[in-house]
Amino acid sequence: MKRNNSVGACASARFAIFGASLCILVSGAAAHAQAAPDPAGFAPCVAGLKAAAVARGVSPDGYERLTAGLAPDMKVLDLLDYQPEFRTPIWDYLAGLVDDERIADGQAMLAQWRDTLAAVAARFHVDPATVVAVWGVESNFGRNFGSRPLLTSLSTLSCYGRRQAYFRGEFYDALKIVDSGDVSVDQLTGSWAGAFGHTQFMPSTFLRLAVDFDGDGRRDLVGSVPDALASTANFLKRAGWREDEVWGYEVRLPAGFDASGAGRRNKQPLAVWSGRGVTRVDGTPLDGTGNAGLLLPAGPKGPAFLVFRNFDAIYGYNAAESYALAIAHLSDRLRGGGPFVTPWPTDDTGLSRAERRELQTLLVARGHAIGTVDGMLGDASRAAIRIEQERLGQPVDGRGGQKLLSALRREGGAGQSLQQDSLDAPAQGR
Ligand code: CA
Repeated sequence: MKRNNSVGACASARFAIFGASLCILVSGAAAHAQAAPDPAGFAPCVAGLKAAAVARGVSPDGYERLTAGLAPDMKVLDLLDYQPEFRTPIWDYLAGLVDDERIADGQAMLAQWRDTLAAVAARFHVDPATVVAVWGVESNFGRNFGSRPLLTSLSTLSCYGRRQAYFRGEFYDALKIVDSGDVSVDQLTGSWAGAFGHTQFMPSTFLRLAVDFDGDGRRDLVGSVPDALASTANFLKRAGWREDEVWGYEVRLPAGFDASGAGRRNKQPLAVWSGRGVTRVDGTPLDGTGNAGLLLPAGPKGPAFLVFRNFDAIYGYNAAESYALAIAHLSDRLRGGGPFVTPWPTDDTGLSRAERRELQTLLVARGHAIGTVDGMLGDASRAAIRIEQERLGQPVDGRGGQKLLSALRREGGAGQSLQQDSLDAPAQGR
């Protein structure tokens, strides 16, 4: 996983798609303090899981071969229980996920994989822009799979921590994937929680929905882009995607609108919304098929959206509305659509990844040890941001936004940098 901040708690059916989403499972965390895990218990635990794995379809020989030499990685337990202290505003989340870079990359992918995407659309009835948007958010078009060996992470989580029953199922399924030859064990790396490949499927999702689209006899979500694109489309189709229907669109609310009926699940006929004065954001009448819910990700003063059942299909990929909105909006941008019309209710909007890298470079120039300039504002970057905010007389919240970037830009290079000895050495960046 690459991020450690969260946009609201989300309890995903897939549990964790950390390639790019910021969804952290927090429910139930910190409910109990456990004794420190004992590594000596690992080998007996793994041996004790064999019967259940075999009952689930892993070959006995395969189990012995694939678990021989496994050692636990206790760091994943910290990630399991990680409680983000920093809550990412929706405008920061979207600014990083739907930026000019990802739009340009996505359009290049649409061109490069045009024939494959057309064949995928013909078979699964999900359009190329939506499939590519999921790919871009999940793994940044295959650049970011996560680097943790899956069998190590999942066996550790099967033997320690608070969700062992869940992770044992994923562990057995991961073993089946390797045992069956779909993906080699060396290629099976991913997020700490077990999501892997271009599409960041969990192993159980892979077994249910992965597709061999290039016809080589293997369902390979790591090495085959056609398999990955088709598997994403298959997921959305099975989640209820309707061809030729939109996910939704931005709308305009009348002055004094009563937002109490908002919510993705509270779907109403368009006539009801029209009757309450809702129009498309350009003022034209509402259109679309079926009932729609009113999504207000930043409250009634921010951008408003009507969302249809295709939005729910995206939501099924990772149960967070912010995540679904990022994919939906990216798909619109890939089709040539523009940014949201209504501004976010803030005077300090979020940073693209290029701007985050620029901010990090300006922090490094001021002597902050933030680790790699990677465009991801983790704990170390935020510690440095707090120091600079205090120096500049800005609110000290550890958030990297346009105001801080502008102030540091105005200073240039190292600016009126701090004394080196006044810098606390922040924790190493993730
Ligand atoms: Ca294949």
